Amino acid sequence: MELYKYDTHVHTSQGSACSTWKGSSIVERLHELGYSGCFITDHFFNGNSAVDRSLPWDVKIHLFCQGYEDAKKRGDELGFQVFFGWEFAMNGTEFLTYGLDKQFLLDNPEIMQMPLERYADFVHEKGGFIVHAHPFREAWYIPLVRLYPKSVDGIEGINCGNSPEQNERAQWYGKSYNLPIVGGTDAHNLWNYHSGGIALDEKLTCAHDYLDRLRNFRITKVLEPSNAAHLPWPEDAGSYAVRNSIELLNDEMKQKAIDFLNSQK
Ligand SMILES: [Zn+2]
Ligand SMILES: [Zn+2]
Repeated sequence: MELYKYDTHVHTSQGSACSTWKGSSIVERLHELGYSGCFITDHFFNGNSAVDRSLPWDVKIHLFCQGYEDAKKRGDELGFQVFFGWEFAMNGTEFLTYGLDKQFLLDNPEIMQMPLERYADFVHEKGGFIVHAHPFREAWYIPLVRLYPKSVDGIEGINCGNSPEQNERAQWYGKSYNLPIVGGTDAHNLWNYHSGGIALDEKLTCAHDYLDRLRNFRITKVLEPSNAAHLPWPEDAGSYAVRNSIELLNDEMKQKAIDFLNSQK
């Protein structure tokens, strides 16, 4: 049976301060590796976003989406599916959010003030869905393990940035609540790309097709991390990061950004 691979958790350098690969380069590499598509899930403003948080909300959202838009444009050229998402955080607990668009973000700045359980309800009300990213990760930025089994549509049971023990706990957690288990690489660069994610028996028709598969436990396979696609690490790795830029905004947004920045001087 032919399987179609998707990476559900990817960071671009335009959207995520900790990522070094721009959206279009990620797409080229994943396409080369035989993936059918990916979800771009940059860190939102409550995580390690690459966007200047002082800017007005609409300007920030347009900048935030530049990594996805760069990926999507290249994906369309290559016949590679690129879906929009983001990683929403509260004190290190992170929800991969899917099935909503830029307009949802533009319309709803109040999400920044919502506790995670309210945020999850709101996302569902608006037609989106959530996978709890690496629920048992232990790291300096995660003071507490918080679980929201009633708020999420799936559990990231294999996160390629986690230890096997942390992933095993996540799988145990998901299974004990009868929540579907998925995988994502959490890629921040592609020199050490771990080739994880999910594999499906058919291509996704849209982002909500992924939700449909979660609800019906139709994730054909969750991919184990592998080093097979690793590339030599360049000495100038840091210089690869292409950041979001007000130069790429439309005239109205660009002017708004410039006026705002001038007013802060
Ligand atoms: Zn990151
Ligand atoms: Zn992530």
